[in-house]
Amino acid sequence: MTPGPPGLVTRGPRGTLARVTGMRVGVVGAGGRMGREVCRTVLERPGLDLVAAVDPGYSGSPVADLLGNSGHGVGDVTVTDDVTALSGVDIDVVVDFTHLEISRRTLSHCASAGIHAVVGTTGFTEDDLDDVAELFVPGSVNGANCVIAANFAIGAVLMMRFASIAAPWFESAEIIELHHEAKRDAPSGTSLRTAEGMAEARADAGKDAFPPDATTTVVLEGARGGAGPGGIRMHSVRLPGLVAHQEVLFGAPGQGLTIRHDSYDRSSFMDGVVLAIEAVPTRPGVTLGIEPLLGI
Ligand code: NAD
Repeated sequence: MTPGPPGLVTRGPRGTLARVTGMRVGVVGAGGRMGREVCRTVLERPGLDLVAAVDPGYSGSPVADLLGNSGHGVGDVTVTDDVTALSGVDIDVVVDFTHLEISRRTLSHCASAGIHAVVGTTGFTEDDLDDVAELFVPGSVNGANCVIAANFAIGAVLMMRFASIAAPWFESAEIIELHHEAKRDAPSGTSLRTAEGMAEARADAGKDAFPPDATTTVVLEGARGGAGPGGIRMHSVRLPGLVAHQEVLFGAPGQGLTIRHDSYDRSSFMDGVVLAIEAVPTRPGVTLGIEPLLGI
């Protein structure tokens, strides 16, 4: 797909990758780990303008200070303390990486103000998503749309998809997820979603869950990991120096397949965030995950 000049809607070959360029972007949670990366990315990417930043933890600070003056063309955006401050700004898309209760508020504000929203905050429940669907109704008067994705790393999303494609064709599969030592939950949400997708793919193909292996004596508790969706054994590794990594290993007579994804730092999420920013104006209502934006 060839990007068009600012403001032009361009359409991909399958009609799913329509994007708008020349976009005015506000970042909620601008001082956070992800928010800073989003600010830096918006400042650096052609066709995106950073016009607002919200974070009560950094209210009054120039965005340039948050970024250690490393942002190109950092401009004069100053962080404000509340999402309602966005009402006075001409803005196309708000990006929110914060905490659940804050993102709920951001979404409510964006829907009523007619601002498209891209949200990366994790932890949305089914009830939350129902509420969001009621806020962002396709074809509503305000016309705002929303993309919510628990994982903006395109490589991770492709890894999950590839694992689903492979799942019906192998006799066994295990997942190893590896993260930094500060991660509190195990196994990771991404590894669980990967296993769910693999289990669904097997069921759709008319295959049973992966059969149990021959282990009868577990010498050390946990040595075979935890039994995840579809009977898939899941193993969690926690080590300093790691960021977010995952391997999906498949076995069949005489052959194996390993699918691995590595996130080395938070920049790994930014191509997916930009994809969502550019696509959200042309995707009516709520889009869950970036899979539809990738055409998969
Ligand atoms: P963080 O704690 O570093 O940042 C959150 C920021 O929100 C903080 O700077 C805080 O001051 C700010 N904040 C608090 N109250 C606010 C308010 N009322 N208005 C605006 N900002 C407010 O967290 P993080 O590591 O950047 O992660 C944020 C979220 O993104 C988490 O839910 C995390 O799980 C998620 N995440 C998602 C992806 C993805 O691909 N979808 C990737 C990484 C992280």
